[in-house]
Amino acid sequence: MAYQALYRVYRPQRFDEVVGQAHITRTIQNALMEERMSHAYLFSGPRGTGKTSLAKIIAKAINCEHAPVKEPCNACPTCLAITEGSSPDVFEIDAASNNGVDEIREIRDKVKYPPSEAAYKVYIIDEVHMLSTGAFNALLKTLEEPPAHAIFILATTEPHKIPATIISRCQRFDVKRHEVDQLVERMQFILSDQEIAYSETALRLIARAADGGMRDALSLLDQAVAFSNGDLTDAAVLEVTGAVEDEALLAIANALHDHHVDQLLQTLEQMQRAGKDLKRFVEDLVFFYRDTLLLKASPTAVDLLERARPTEEFKQFVETIETETCFHVIEQLHDCQQQMRLTNHPRVLVEIAFIQITEQGRTTGQIVQSLQQEVREMKEQMHQLKANGVPATEQVAAQPAKRKQARPTVRIAKERIRQMLMRAEKAQLLEIQERWDAILKLILKQDGPIYSLVHESKPVLCSGDTLLIEFDNGKGWHFEQVMTNERTRFVIEEALFEVCGVKREILAILDQDWNELKAEFVAKRNSSSIEEKEVAEESESDRLLSETLGRFGDIVEFED
Ligand SMILES: [Zn+2]
Repeated sequence: MAYQALYRVYRPQRFDEVVGQAHITRTIQNALMEERMSHAYLFSGPRGTGKTSLAKIIAKAINCEHAPVKEPCNACPTCLAITEGSSPDVFEIDAASNNGVDEIREIRDKVKYPPSEAAYKVYIIDEVHMLSTGAFNALLKTLEEPPAHAIFILATTEPHKIPATIISRCQRFDVKRHEVDQLVERMQFILSDQEIAYSETALRLIARAADGGMRDALSLLDQAVAFSNGDLTDAAVLEVTGAVEDEALLAIANALHDHHVDQLLQTLEQMQRAGKDLKRFVEDLVFFYRDTLLLKASPTAVDLLERARPTEEFKQFVETIETETCFHVIEQLHDCQQQMRLTNHPRVLVEIAFIQITEQGRTTGQIVQSLQQEVREMKEQMHQLKANGVPATEQVAAQPAKRKQARPTVRIAKERIRQMLMRAEKAQLLEIQERWDAILKLILKQDGPIYSLVHESKPVLCSGDTLLIEFDNGKGWHFEQVMTNERTRFVIEEALFEVCGVKREILAILDQDWNELKAEFVAKRNSSSIEEKEVAEESESDRLLSETLGRFGDIVEFED
Protein backbone atom coordinates (compact mmCIF):
# COMPACT_ATOMS: atom_id res chain seq x y z
CA MET A 1 0.00 0.00 0.00
CA ALA A 2 1.29 3.41 -0.91
CA TYR A 3 2.41 5.54 2.01
CA GLN A 4 -0.15 8.12 3.03
CA ALA A 5 0.85 11.27 4.87
CA LEU A 6 -0.22 11.38 8.53
CA TYR A 7 -2.06 14.59 7.82
CA ARG A 8 -4.31 12.79 5.35
CA VAL A 9 -4.76 9.61 7.38
CA TYR A 10 -5.71 11.54 10.50
CA ARG A 11 -7.81 14.22 8.88
CA PRO A 12 -10.84 14.84 11.15
CA GLN A 13 -14.00 13.19 9.82
CA ARG A 14 -16.35 14.26 12.59
CA PHE A 15 -16.91 17.54 14.44
CA ASP A 16 -15.65 16.00 17.68
CA GLU A 17 -12.34 15.18 16.00
CA VAL A 18 -11.79 18.82 15.05
CA VAL A 19 -9.17 20.13 17.48
CA GLY A 20 -9.66 23.39 19.37
CA GLN A 21 -12.53 24.97 17.41
CA ALA A 22 -15.41 24.26 19.79
CA HIS A 23 -16.75 27.80 19.28
CA ILE A 24 -17.43 26.89 15.65
CA THR A 25 -18.47 23.26 15.83
CA ARG A 26 -21.01 23.88 18.60
CA THR A 27 -22.75 26.65 16.64
CA ILE A 28 -22.86 24.60 13.46
CA GLN A 29 -24.08 21.46 15.20
CA ASN A 30 -26.94 23.45 16.76
CA ALA A 31 -27.86 24.85 13.35
CA LEU A 32 -27.77 21.34 11.86
CA MET A 33 -30.11 19.93 14.51
CA GLU A 34 -32.49 22.86 14.22
CA GLU A 35 -32.28 22.67 10.41
CA ARG A 36 -31.54 26.33 10.00
CA MET A 37 -28.19 26.25 8.24
CA SER A 38 -27.01 29.43 6.62
CA HIS A 39 -26.48 29.53 2.84
CA ALA A 40 -22.96 30.87 3.06
CA TYR A 41 -20.17 30.39 5.57
CA LEU A 42 -16.79 32.03 5.69
CA PHE A 43 -13.94 30.39 7.60
CA SER A 44 -10.92 32.58 8.07
CA GLY A 45 -7.73 31.58 9.84
CA PRO A 46 -4.08 30.61 9.47
CA ARG A 47 -3.02 27.91 7.02
CA GLY A 48 -3.27 24.29 8.06
CA THR A 49 -5.73 24.82 10.88
CA GLY A 50 -8.50 22.67 9.39
CA LYS A 51 -10.75 25.06 7.48
CA THR A 52 -11.42 22.76 4.53
CA SER A 53 -11.69 19.71 6.78
CA LEU A 54 -14.45 21.54 8.64
CA ALA A 55 -16.13 22.40 5.35
CA LYS A 56 -16.16 18.74 4.28
CA ILE A 57 -17.58 17.60 7.61
CA ILE A 58 -20.38 20.14 7.19
CA ALA A 59 -21.02 18.88 3.65
CA LYS A 60 -21.34 15.35 5.03
CA ALA A 61 -23.41 16.19 8.10
CA ILE A 62 -26.00 18.12 6.12
CA ASN A 63 -26.23 15.46 3.41
CA CYS A 64 -25.92 12.36 5.63
CA GLU A 65 -28.77 9.95 5.00
CA HIS A 66 -29.60 10.06 8.71
CA ALA A 67 -29.92 13.87 8.77
CA PRO A 68 -30.67 15.86 10.81
CA VAL A 69 -27.59 14.67 12.70
CA LYS A 70 -25.00 16.28 14.93
CA GLU A 71 -22.23 14.22 13.36
CA PRO A 72 -22.00 12.60 9.91
CA CYS A 73 -22.30 8.80 10.15
CA ASN A 74 -19.32 8.37 7.76
CA ALA A 75 -20.86 5.04 6.70
CA CYS A 76 -23.80 5.81 4.42
CA PRO A 77 -23.14 6.03 0.65
CA THR A 78 -23.46 9.85 0.66
CA CYS A 79 -20.97 10.30 3.53
CA LEU A 80 -18.54 7.86 1.91
CA ALA A 81 -18.77 9.55 -1.49
CA ILE A 82 -18.04 12.95 0.04
CA THR A 83 -15.06 11.58 2.01
CA GLU A 84 -13.66 10.08 -1.18
CA GLY A 85 -14.32 13.25 -3.13
CA SER A 86 -16.56 11.46 -5.62
CA SER A 87 -19.92 13.02 -4.73
CA PRO A 88 -21.44 14.82 -7.74
CA ASP A 89 -22.99 17.40 -5.42
CA VAL A 90 -20.00 18.57 -3.45
CA PHE A 91 -17.63 20.85 -5.34
CA GLU A 92 -14.18 21.72 -4.07
CA ILE A 93 -12.71 24.72 -5.82
CA ASP A 94 -9.22 26.04 -5.18
CA ALA A 95 -9.41 29.73 -5.99
CA ALA A 96 -5.62 29.90 -5.97
CA SER A 97 -5.62 27.94 -9.23
CA ASN A 98 -9.10 28.76 -10.58
CA ASN A 99 -9.32 32.46 -10.19
CA GLY A 100 -11.12 33.05 -13.45
CA VAL A 101 -14.53 34.53 -13.88
CA ASP A 102 -15.52 31.56 -16.03
CA GLU A 103 -15.41 28.96 -13.27
CA ILE A 104 -17.54 31.09 -10.97
CA ARG A 105 -19.94 31.87 -13.84
CA GLU A 106 -20.28 28.16 -14.39
CA ILE A 107 -21.19 27.73 -10.73
CA ARG A 108 -23.71 30.53 -11.11
CA ASP A 109 -25.31 28.89 -14.12
CA LYS A 110 -25.47 25.39 -12.67
CA VAL A 111 -26.30 26.14 -9.05
CA LYS A 112 -29.98 26.48 -9.86
CA TYR A 113 -30.29 22.80 -10.84
CA PRO A 114 -31.18 20.60 -7.88
CA PRO A 115 -28.56 18.20 -6.48
CA SER A 116 -28.47 14.80 -8.18
CA GLU A 117 -27.94 12.49 -5.20
CA ALA A 118 -27.54 14.43 -1.98
CA ALA A 119 -29.96 16.84 -0.34
CA TYR A 120 -27.76 19.89 -0.80
CA LYS A 121 -25.20 21.08 -3.29
CA VAL A 122 -22.17 22.24 -1.35
CA TYR A 123 -19.57 24.53 -2.92
CA ILE A 124 -16.30 24.71 -1.00
CA ILE A 125 -14.11 27.55 -2.28
CA ASP A 126 -10.64 27.48 -0.73
CA GLU A 127 -8.36 30.56 -0.65
CA VAL A 128 -11.35 32.57 -1.81
CA HIS A 129 -9.43 35.86 -1.47
CA MET A 130 -7.53 34.89 -4.66
CA LEU A 131 -10.60 35.36 -6.86
CA SER A 132 -10.43 38.17 -9.37
CA THR A 133 -12.74 41.17 -9.07
CA GLY A 134 -14.88 39.82 -11.90
CA ALA A 135 -15.14 36.46 -10.19
CA PHE A 136 -16.12 38.12 -6.91
CA ASN A 137 -18.89 39.99 -8.69
CA ALA A 138 -20.18 36.77 -10.23
CA LEU A 139 -20.03 35.06 -6.83
CA LEU A 140 -21.86 37.94 -5.20
CA LYS A 141 -24.75 37.59 -7.65
CA THR A 142 -25.08 33.94 -6.62
CA LEU A 143 -24.83 34.70 -2.91
CA GLU A 144 -27.53 37.36 -3.23
CA GLU A 145 -30.13 34.82 -4.28
CA PRO A 146 -28.89 31.36 -3.37
CA PRO A 147 -31.28 28.51 -4.26
CA ALA A 148 -32.62 26.68 -1.18
CA HIS A 149 -30.57 23.58 -2.04
CA ALA A 150 -27.15 25.31 -2.18
CA ILE A 151 -24.60 26.01 0.52
CA PHE A 152 -21.39 27.95 -0.04
CA ILE A 153 -18.44 27.45 2.27
CA LEU A 154 -15.63 29.92 1.70
CA ALA A 155 -12.21 29.52 3.31
CA THR A 156 -9.41 32.05 3.45
CA THR A 157 -6.17 32.89 5.17
CA GLU A 158 -6.58 36.56 4.27
CA PRO A 159 -10.11 37.74 5.04
CA HIS A 160 -9.16 41.42 4.62
CA LYS A 161 -8.81 40.81 0.88
CA ILE A 162 -12.43 39.77 0.52
CA PRO A 163 -14.93 42.47 -0.48
CA ALA A 164 -17.24 43.55 2.34
CA THR A 165 -20.24 42.84 0.12
CA ILE A 166 -19.28 39.13 0.11
CA ILE A 167 -18.45 38.99 3.82
CA SER A 168 -21.78 40.54 4.74
CA ARG A 169 -23.60 37.68 2.98
CA CYS A 170 -21.76 35.02 5.00
CA GLN A 171 -21.85 33.72 8.52
CA ARG A 172 -18.25 34.26 9.50
CA PHE A 173 -16.10 32.13 11.79
CA ASP A 174 -12.52 32.71 12.83
CA VAL A 175 -10.61 29.44 12.91
CA LYS A 176 -8.03 29.65 15.67
CA ARG A 177 -4.40 28.65 15.67
CA HIS A 178 -3.87 25.51 17.72
CA GLU A 179 -2.20 25.77 21.08
CA VAL A 180 0.99 23.80 21.73
CA ASP A 181 -0.88 21.48 24.11
CA GLN A 182 -3.57 20.75 21.55
CA LEU A 183 -1.00 19.83 18.91
CA VAL A 184 0.93 17.68 21.38
CA GLU A 185 -2.23 15.86 22.42
CA ARG A 186 -3.18 15.09 18.84
CA MET A 187 0.35 13.84 18.01
CA GLN A 188 0.30 11.64 21.12
CA PHE A 189 -2.93 10.09 19.91
CA ILE A 190 -1.52 9.46 16.44
CA LEU A 191 1.78 8.00 17.64
CA SER A 192 0.05 5.68 20.09
CA ASP A 193 -2.24 4.61 17.30
CA GLN A 194 0.78 3.95 15.04
CA GLU A 195 2.63 2.27 17.92
CA ILE A 196 5.61 4.57 17.67
CA ALA A 197 7.51 5.47 20.85
CA TYR A 198 8.23 9.16 21.49
CA SER A 199 9.39 11.64 24.09
CA GLU A 200 7.19 14.54 25.12
CA THR A 201 10.11 16.94 24.52
CA ALA A 202 10.21 15.89 20.89
CA LEU A 203 6.50 16.55 20.46
CA ARG A 204 6.76 19.96 22.11
CA LEU A 205 9.59 20.90 19.77
CA ILE A 206 7.48 19.96 16.77
CA ALA A 207 4.43 21.77 18.13
CA ARG A 208 6.42 24.97 18.60
CA ALA A 209 7.95 24.77 15.15
CA ALA A 210 4.50 24.29 13.61
CA ASP A 211 3.36 27.68 14.92
CA GLY A 212 -0.21 26.67 15.61
CA GLY A 213 -0.90 24.74 12.41
CA MET A 214 -1.99 21.11 12.61
CA ARG A 215 -0.99 20.37 9.02
CA ASP A 216 2.54 21.69 9.57
CA ALA A 217 2.83 19.79 12.86
CA LEU A 218 1.82 16.50 11.28
CA SER A 219 4.06 16.89 8.27
CA LEU A 220 7.04 17.68 10.53
CA LEU A 221 6.07 14.63 12.57
CA ASP A 222 6.04 12.58 9.37
CA GLN A 223 9.53 13.74 8.42
CA ALA A 224 10.95 13.25 11.92
CA VAL A 225 9.58 9.71 12.14
CA ALA A 226 11.08 8.88 8.75
CA PHE A 227 14.37 10.40 9.86
CA SER A 228 14.37 8.45 13.13
CA ASN A 229 14.05 5.02 11.53
CA GLY A 230 11.37 3.73 13.83
CA ASP A 231 10.92 5.52 17.13
CA LEU A 232 10.76 9.27 17.29
CA THR A 233 13.97 10.74 18.70
CA ASP A 234 14.70 14.27 19.96
CA ALA A 235 17.76 14.42 17.72
CA ALA A 236 15.68 13.72 14.62
CA VAL A 237 13.19 16.41 15.60
CA LEU A 238 15.94 18.96 16.14
CA GLU A 239 17.36 18.02 12.76
CA VAL A 240 14.04 18.27 10.94
CA THR A 241 12.81 21.47 12.60
CA GLY A 242 16.21 23.16 12.65
CA ALA A 243 15.45 24.14 16.25
CA VAL A 244 18.08 24.90 18.83
CA GLU A 245 17.91 23.08 22.14
CA ASP A 246 16.78 25.10 25.12
CA GLU A 247 20.08 24.50 26.92
CA ALA A 248 21.89 26.08 23.99
CA LEU A 249 19.53 29.07 24.07
CA LEU A 250 20.16 29.51 27.78
CA ALA A 251 23.94 29.32 27.23
CA ILE A 252 23.66 32.04 24.58
CA ALA A 253 21.50 34.26 26.79
CA ASN A 254 23.99 33.89 29.63
CA ALA A 255 26.86 34.72 27.30
CA LEU A 256 25.00 37.81 26.08
CA HIS A 257 24.63 39.16 29.58
CA ASP A 258 28.11 38.18 30.74
CA HIS A 259 29.56 40.00 27.67
CA HIS A 260 31.27 36.85 26.32
CA VAL A 261 31.38 38.10 22.75
CA ASP A 262 33.98 35.50 21.67
CA GLN A 263 31.83 32.64 22.83
CA LEU A 264 28.82 34.07 21.01
CA LEU A 265 30.63 34.48 17.72
CA GLN A 266 32.00 30.94 17.96
CA THR A 267 28.54 29.53 18.65
CA LEU A 268 27.20 31.32 15.59
CA GLU A 269 29.92 29.85 13.44
CA GLN A 270 29.23 26.34 14.73
CA MET A 271 25.55 26.79 14.02
CA GLN A 272 26.14 27.88 10.51
CA ARG A 273 28.46 24.95 9.91
CA ALA A 274 25.81 22.60 11.27
CA GLY A 275 23.39 24.07 8.74
CA LYS A 276 21.04 25.65 11.28
CA ASP A 277 18.66 28.23 9.94
CA LEU A 278 19.70 31.50 11.59
CA LYS A 279 16.29 33.07 11.06
CA ARG A 280 14.73 30.27 13.04
CA PHE A 281 17.44 30.63 15.64
CA VAL A 282 16.76 34.34 16.18
CA GLU A 283 13.08 33.58 16.45
CA ASP A 284 13.80 30.85 19.00
CA LEU A 285 15.83 33.34 20.97
CA VAL A 286 12.99 35.91 20.89
CA PHE A 287 10.65 33.25 22.25
CA PHE A 288 13.21 32.33 24.87
CA TYR A 289 13.17 35.93 26.16
CA ARG A 290 9.41 35.96 25.92
CA ASP A 291 9.40 32.89 28.20
CA THR A 292 11.74 34.70 30.56
CA LEU A 293 9.36 37.66 30.79
CA LEU A 294 6.43 35.37 31.25
CA LEU A 295 8.03 33.56 34.16
CA LYS A 296 9.09 36.87 35.69
CA ALA A 297 5.54 38.16 35.51
CA SER A 298 3.96 34.97 36.78
CA PRO A 299 6.16 32.26 38.31
CA THR A 300 3.30 29.76 38.01
CA ALA A 301 3.05 30.15 34.23
CA VAL A 302 5.38 27.24 33.48
CA ASP A 303 2.72 25.64 31.25
CA LEU A 304 2.86 28.59 28.88
CA LEU A 305 6.59 28.39 28.19
CA GLU A 306 7.30 27.92 24.49
CA ARG A 307 11.05 27.49 24.17
CA ALA A 308 12.54 27.26 27.63
CA ARG A 309 12.01 24.44 30.09
CA PRO A 310 11.56 25.41 33.75
CA THR A 311 14.89 23.97 34.88
CA GLU A 312 16.75 25.31 37.92
CA GLU A 313 19.29 26.98 35.61
CA PHE A 314 16.56 28.73 33.67
CA LYS A 315 14.80 29.89 36.84
CA GLN A 316 18.07 31.31 38.06
CA PHE A 317 18.50 33.20 34.78
CA VAL A 318 14.96 34.57 35.11
CA GLU A 319 15.72 35.82 38.61
CA THR A 320 18.92 37.60 37.70
CA ILE A 321 17.84 39.37 34.53
CA GLU A 322 15.94 42.67 34.58
CA THR A 323 12.57 42.97 32.85
CA GLU A 324 13.69 46.08 31.00
CA THR A 325 16.77 44.27 29.73
CA CYS A 326 14.57 41.53 28.29
CA PHE A 327 12.46 44.10 26.45
CA HIS A 328 15.57 45.71 25.00
CA VAL A 329 17.01 42.39 23.84
CA ILE A 330 13.71 41.44 22.21
CA GLU A 331 13.63 44.80 20.45
CA GLN A 332 17.17 44.34 19.13
CA LEU A 333 16.43 40.81 17.94
CA HIS A 334 13.24 41.98 16.33
CA ASP A 335 15.10 44.66 14.36
CA CYS A 336 17.60 42.00 13.38
CA GLN A 337 14.78 39.76 12.09
CA GLN A 338 13.39 42.59 9.98
CA GLN A 339 16.75 43.24 8.36
CA MET A 340 17.45 39.54 7.84
CA ARG A 341 14.59 39.38 5.36
CA LEU A 342 16.49 41.68 3.05
CA THR A 343 19.92 40.10 3.11
CA ASN A 344 21.86 37.06 2.01
CA HIS A 345 24.29 37.40 4.90
CA PRO A 346 22.16 36.84 7.95
CA ARG A 347 25.11 35.84 10.13
CA VAL A 348 26.63 39.32 10.00
CA LEU A 349 23.36 40.82 11.20
CA VAL A 350 23.09 38.39 14.10
CA GLU A 351 26.68 39.13 15.05
CA ILE A 352 25.98 42.86 15.04
CA ALA A 353 22.84 42.37 17.12
CA PHE A 354 24.77 40.29 19.65
CA ILE A 355 27.52 42.88 19.93
CA GLN A 356 24.95 45.65 20.36
CA ILE A 357 23.22 43.72 23.12
CA THR A 358 26.44 43.05 25.02
CA GLU A 359 27.47 46.70 24.63
CA GLN A 360 24.11 47.80 25.98
CA GLY A 361 24.70 45.64 29.02
CA ARG A 362 27.89 47.59 29.60
CA THR A 363 26.07 50.89 29.38
CA THR A 364 23.54 49.67 31.91
CA GLY A 365 26.47 48.89 34.19
CA GLN A 366 27.64 52.43 33.77
CA ILE A 367 24.20 53.75 34.59
CA VAL A 368 24.24 51.76 37.82
CA GLN A 369 27.61 53.27 38.68
CA SER A 370 26.37 56.80 38.13
CA LEU A 371 23.25 56.09 40.19
CA GLN A 372 25.41 54.82 42.98
CA GLN A 373 27.38 58.03 42.76
CA GLU A 374 24.16 60.05 42.99
CA VAL A 375 23.06 58.13 46.06
CA ARG A 376 26.41 58.85 47.70
CA GLU A 377 26.00 62.55 46.95
CA MET A 378 22.51 62.58 48.32
CA LYS A 379 23.65 60.90 51.50
CA GLU A 380 26.25 63.59 51.91
CA GLN A 381 23.68 66.32 51.39
CA MET A 382 21.48 64.71 53.98
CA HIS A 383 24.30 64.68 56.48
CA GLN A 384 24.95 68.34 55.82
CA LEU A 385 21.32 69.25 56.19
CA LYS A 386 21.08 67.34 59.43
CA ALA A 387 24.22 68.99 60.68
CA ASN A 388 22.76 72.41 59.86
CA GLY A 389 19.68 71.56 61.86
CA VAL A 390 17.14 71.79 59.03
CA PRO A 391 14.31 69.21 59.19
CA ALA A 392 15.51 67.49 56.07
CA THR A 393 12.99 64.73 55.45
CA GLU A 394 10.57 66.47 53.08
CA GLN A 395 12.98 68.15 50.71
CA VAL A 396 15.23 65.14 50.42
CA ALA A 397 12.35 62.81 49.73
CA ALA A 398 11.06 65.03 46.93
CA GLN A 399 14.39 65.40 45.17
CA PRO A 400 15.25 61.85 44.11
CA ALA A 401 11.69 61.29 42.95
CA LYS A 402 12.02 64.19 40.52
CA ARG A 403 15.40 63.09 39.27
CA LYS A 404 14.46 59.49 38.69
CA GLN A 405 11.30 60.10 36.74
CA ALA A 406 12.45 61.16 33.33
CA ARG A 407 9.38 62.45 31.54
CA PRO A 408 8.30 60.18 28.71
CA THR A 409 8.85 61.57 25.26
CA VAL A 410 5.44 60.51 23.97
CA ARG A 411 2.87 63.27 23.74
CA ILE A 412 -0.16 62.88 25.94
CA ALA A 413 -3.41 63.14 24.01
CA LYS A 414 -4.74 65.78 26.39
CA GLU A 415 -7.32 67.34 24.11
CA ARG A 416 -8.73 63.94 23.24
CA ILE A 417 -8.99 63.00 26.90
CA ARG A 418 -10.75 66.29 27.68
CA GLN A 419 -13.29 65.40 25.01
CA MET A 420 -13.63 61.93 26.50
CA LEU A 421 -14.29 63.37 29.96
CA MET A 422 -17.26 65.30 28.58
CA ARG A 423 -18.84 62.09 27.38
CA ALA A 424 -17.68 59.56 29.97
CA GLU A 425 -19.62 56.29 30.09
CA LYS A 426 -19.66 55.16 33.67
CA ALA A 427 -21.62 51.92 33.32
CA GLN A 428 -19.34 50.68 30.55
CA LEU A 429 -16.25 51.59 32.54
CA LEU A 430 -17.49 49.79 35.64
CA GLU A 431 -18.11 46.67 33.59
CA ILE A 432 -14.63 46.80 32.10
CA GLN A 433 -13.06 47.44 35.51
CA GLU A 434 -14.91 44.47 36.91
CA ARG A 435 -13.56 42.22 34.17
CA TRP A 436 -10.11 43.76 33.94
CA ASP A 437 -8.53 40.76 35.66
CA ALA A 438 -10.10 38.42 33.13
CA ILE A 439 -8.86 40.64 30.31
CA LEU A 440 -5.32 40.60 31.76
CA LYS A 441 -5.44 36.82 32.08
CA LEU A 442 -6.36 36.52 28.43
CA ILE A 443 -3.51 38.86 27.48
CA LEU A 444 -1.13 36.67 29.51
CA LYS A 445 -2.27 33.70 27.48
CA GLN A 446 -1.83 35.56 24.19
CA ASP A 447 1.43 37.33 24.84
CA GLY A 448 3.54 37.26 28.00
CA PRO A 449 5.62 40.39 27.31
CA ILE A 450 2.54 42.49 26.66
CA TYR A 451 1.02 41.13 29.85
CA SER A 452 4.02 42.20 31.87
CA LEU A 453 3.72 45.66 30.29
CA VAL A 454 0.10 46.20 31.24
CA HIS A 455 -0.63 44.02 34.24
CA GLU A 456 -0.27 46.94 36.62
CA SER A 457 -2.38 49.35 34.59
CA LYS A 458 -6.02 50.03 35.26
CA PRO A 459 -8.91 51.33 33.15
CA VAL A 460 -10.02 54.77 34.34
CA LEU A 461 -12.16 56.31 31.63
CA CYS A 462 -14.36 54.98 28.89
CA SER A 463 -16.04 57.09 26.28
CA GLY A 464 -17.20 56.65 22.71
CA ASP A 465 -14.67 54.50 20.91
CA THR A 466 -11.84 54.83 23.43
CA LEU A 467 -10.71 53.27 26.69
CA LEU A 468 -8.14 55.10 28.77
CA ILE A 469 -5.80 53.04 30.94
CA GLU A 470 -3.64 54.54 33.63
CA PHE A 471 -0.08 53.72 34.70
CA ASP A 472 1.74 54.73 37.87
CA ASN A 473 4.15 57.62 37.35
CA GLY A 474 7.12 55.28 37.67
CA LYS A 475 5.90 53.27 34.67
CA GLY A 476 6.79 55.85 32.03
CA TRP A 477 8.44 53.23 29.86
CA HIS A 478 5.40 50.95 29.96
CA PHE A 479 3.17 53.90 29.09
CA GLU A 480 5.38 54.73 26.12
CA GLN A 481 5.32 51.17 24.84
CA VAL A 482 1.53 51.07 24.86
CA MET A 483 1.29 54.43 23.11
CA THR A 484 3.86 53.71 20.43
CA ASN A 485 3.42 50.01 19.73
CA GLU A 486 0.43 49.24 17.58
CA ARG A 487 0.58 45.51 18.20
CA THR A 488 0.52 46.01 21.96
CA ARG A 489 -2.63 48.06 21.69
CA PHE A 490 -4.14 45.55 19.28
CA VAL A 491 -3.63 42.65 21.70
CA ILE A 492 -5.27 44.62 24.54
CA GLU A 493 -8.13 45.69 22.28
CA GLU A 494 -8.74 42.12 21.12
CA ALA A 495 -8.74 40.81 24.71
CA LEU A 496 -11.18 43.55 25.69
CA PHE A 497 -13.42 42.56 22.82
CA GLU A 498 -13.24 38.88 23.64
CA VAL A 499 -14.09 39.38 27.32
CA CYS A 500 -16.51 42.33 27.25
CA GLY A 501 -17.71 42.25 23.65
CA VAL A 502 -16.88 45.91 23.09
CA LYS A 503 -14.48 47.43 20.59
CA ARG A 504 -12.50 50.31 22.09
CA GLU A 505 -9.28 51.96 21.05
CA ILE A 506 -6.70 51.90 23.82
CA LEU A 507 -5.15 55.11 25.05
CA ALA A 508 -2.71 55.30 27.95
CA ILE A 509 -1.93 57.96 30.51
CA LEU A 510 0.30 58.41 33.52
CA ASP A 511 -1.12 58.84 36.99
CA GLN A 512 0.01 62.43 37.37
CA ASP A 513 -1.38 63.64 34.02
CA TRP A 514 -4.65 61.88 34.67
CA ASN A 515 -5.05 63.60 38.04
CA GLU A 516 -4.27 66.97 36.45
CA LEU A 517 -6.83 66.50 33.70
CA LYS A 518 -9.49 65.33 36.11
CA ALA A 519 -8.92 68.27 38.44
CA GLU A 520 -9.01 70.67 35.51
CA PHE A 521 -12.25 69.13 34.27
CA VAL A 522 -13.97 69.30 37.64
CA ALA A 523 -12.90 72.91 38.14
CA LYS A 524 -14.18 73.91 34.71
CA ARG A 525 -17.50 72.16 35.18
CA ASN A 526 -18.06 73.70 38.58
CA SER A 527 -17.42 77.24 37.41
CA SER A 528 -19.52 77.01 34.25
CA SER A 529 -22.46 75.33 35.96
CA ILE A 530 -22.56 77.64 38.96
CA GLU A 531 -23.07 80.53 36.57
CA GLU A 532 -26.27 78.88 35.39
CA LYS A 533 -27.57 78.99 38.97
CA GLU A 534 -29.66 75.89 38.85
CA VAL A 535 -32.04 75.39 41.77
CA ALA A 536 -31.13 72.36 43.80
CA GLU A 537 -32.06 70.87 47.11
CA GLU A 538 -28.63 69.70 48.04
CA SER A 539 -25.69 72.05 48.12
CA GLU A 540 -24.99 73.14 44.55
CA SER A 541 -21.29 72.39 44.48
CA ASP A 542 -21.73 69.06 46.24
CA ARG A 543 -24.29 67.98 43.72
CA LEU A 544 -22.16 69.01 40.77
CA LEU A 545 -19.13 67.37 42.21
CA SER A 546 -20.85 64.07 42.83
CA GLU A 547 -22.47 64.22 39.41
CA THR A 548 -19.17 64.91 37.75
CA LEU A 549 -17.36 62.26 39.70
CA GLY A 550 -20.14 59.80 39.08
CA ARG A 551 -19.53 60.30 35.41
CA PHE A 552 -16.04 58.84 35.52
CA GLY A 553 -16.85 56.09 37.92
CA ASP A 554 -13.59 56.16 39.82
CA ILE A 555 -15.01 58.03 42.79
CA VAL A 556 -12.55 56.44 45.16
CA GLU A 557 -9.79 58.48 43.62
CA PHE A 558 -11.36 61.78 44.68
CA GLU A 559 -11.22 62.26 48.37
CA ASP A 560 -11.03 66.02 48.58
ZN1 LIG B 1 -23.93 9.41 6.57
